[in-house]
Amino acid sequence: MTFAGELAEVDGLVFKGDRVVVPRDARSEILRRLHSSHIGMNGCIRRARESVFYPGLTADIKRVVSACAICAEHQAMTQKEPLLPYAALSRPWVRVGVDIFTLRGQDYLSLIITAMYCDVKLTYLYVTIC
Ligand SMILES: [Zn+2]
Repeated sequence: MTFAGELAEVDGLVFKGDRVVVPRDARSEILRRLHSSHIGMNGCIRRARESVFYPGLTADIKRVVSACAICAEHQAMTQKEPLLPYAALSRPWVRVGVDIFTLRGQDYLSLIITAMYCDVKLTYLYVTIC
């Protein structure tokens, strides 16, 4: 697979889109850094796709993470919790939830307001998270 047409050079660095192309002799160090916080397979791949590229990067991440005992232990601890229904609310603004997430490269803060009568309003506010 060739991607030569997708490459650009800026200030001595080669980019493939937004991602820096990692030279062969720096790949093991970049792989070590991507995996340094033991965020698991998907976390490492997501982090890599936001910043760096080299042919075989995903395969290398899979190899390193699948051999990591810390990532395996963390994966076992992050099993999905069952959904728990809430009791009926007595008045508006009794329950407010917030969360942060990333969608298509944008960071969002979601504010979820649960009002009376099971009416749910959902508002997404754009915020910059540094
Ligand atoms: Zn790990």
